[in-house]
Amino acid sequence: MNSVRLTFLGTGTSHGIPVIGCTCAVCQSSDPRNQRFRASVLIEWQGKTLLIDTPPELRLQLVRAKVTHLDALLYTHTHADHIFGLDDVRVFSGRQCAPLPVYGMPQSLENLQRQFFYVFTETPMGGGKPRLDLRKINPLDQPFEAEGVPVQPVPVWHGPTPVLGYRFGDVAYVTDTNDIPEASLALLQGLDVLVLDALRQQAHPTHFSIPEALAIVERLKPRRTYFTHMCHDVDHEKTNRQLPPGIQLAYDGLILE
Ligand SMILES: [Zn+2]
Ligand SMILES: [Zn+2]
Ligand SMILES: [Zn+2]
Repeated sequence: MNSVRLTFLGTGTSHGIPVIGCTCAVCQSSDPRNQRFRASVLIEWQGKTLLIDTPPELRLQLVRAKVTHLDALLYTHTHADHIFGLDDVRVFSGRQCAPLPVYGMPQSLENLQRQFFYVFTETPMGGGKPRLDLRKINPLDQPFEAEGVPVQPVPVWHGPTPVLGYRFGDVAYVTDTNDIPEASLALLQGLDVLVLDALRQQAHPTHFSIPEALAIVERLKPRRTYFTHMCHDVDHEKTNRQLPPGIQLAYDGLILE
């Protein structure tokens, strides 16, 4: 497999769409592209399968995408919408009879150890827990190999929170950000595909709005761009029609080859 295959497992903001109990037009929409699990992607490249983040709907996402095997897990950051499906990866560490390598910035891995204390506590029989092999990404801006797959981490800001985007060859996934430092913009040159956070039309303190995301695209000029982490203000059909050529909203289940 020479080119990166990217599967959108979830493209919604932290509430998920539909939002619980919401009667707005997008949450009530029958367009499946308006139904968004929390944000996650699957990367298949060089014969390996990598998962980025473990949202609360992870089991449903992996069943729907028919994922049978995982080689590694990468975290962007540890907000609740990106981590609380972690327990479900135990099926892979069990089936593969090996701990699953987990990559993230040092503070993300420390947060995981606190938030999932039972996973990292010795118990007599470990069958019910994921077995994880935590691997710190350090320094944050240097390429590394995840199970042999070359990965370029891309440090960005999400309000006050540091987040890692990831670049695999000509494909980059950059979610949960409202500020990409110059040094990181330099790591995103010459892309075939850019996946970028774009929460809604209106400005937000920790996410790019659609106009802000468009300004980043204008600077980086990737061949194709897909926006993700949308909230229920964003109707897929209506918004997509207004985006410039080469830029589209992602939706759950979309696969890029
Ligand atoms: Zn998020
Ligand atoms: Zn709604
Ligand atoms: Zn976040």
